[in-house]
Amino acid sequence: MIIAIDGPAASGKGTLGRRLARHFGLVYLDTGALYRAVAAALLDAGIDPDDNAAAVAAAASIDPAILGDPRLRTTEVGQAASIVAAKPEVRAALLQYQRDVAATAPGAVLDGRDIATVVCPDADVKFFVTADLAVRAQRRHVELTGGGQMIEQGAVMDDLSARDARDQARADAPLTLSEHAHLLDTTKLDIEAAFKAAVEIVDGTTRA
Ligand code: C5P
Repeated sequence: MIIAIDGPAASGKGTLGRRLARHFGLVYLDTGALYRAVAAALLDAGIDPDDNAAAVAAAASIDPAILGDPRLRTTEVGQAASIVAAKPEVRAALLQYQRDVAATAPGAVLDGRDIATVVCPDADVKFFVTADLAVRAQRRHVELTGGGQMIEQGAVMDDLSARDARDQARADAPLTLSEHAHLLDTTKLDIEAAFKAAVEIVDGTTRA
């Protein structure tokens, strides 16, 4: 079984994805971490994230062991990730790894921006998770400051809205609500309620 989850930054899709993977005994992949890893490699080397050749080379040589590194979670890396993510050759270089993870038995949950549309268009269940910008900014602010980062909530909101705009406007694999995706708006739903709603949808789909 493959579960595809897409949505804007800080919508709750990562938390939901991890919980669904644990519940159904599936592998989980945060695909945003791949773009963040490419961005971090460039920033560490002092290279402009807009450098196409360097970004493609970094994407081709990612070590999956780095994907859980908390250093990838900064707003600086997030911004640079959305710059490298707009490059078609970077996306192409990361595609096979994502599809290989999706093909792992007995199945996988992947979250990102283009999972239902490009990476796993044949996914068994597709979700689009979203929430109002102010609510997402508040959640991400709590997460970042809890992790020791010093940042104002307004700056987090600016970061999210700049990334949303870039992710929706790019020509290749933009963030969009795909056909057949179940929309989960977490503005007023807490994670528990969103998780329950998602489990019911998955159970209903796999029983059908
Ligand atoms: O999910 P996260 O916010 O960590 O993703 C960081 C950036 O990576 C996003 O802003 C987006 O530009 C890019 N991304 C993407 N496609 C994905 C996952 C993430 O373009 N499937």
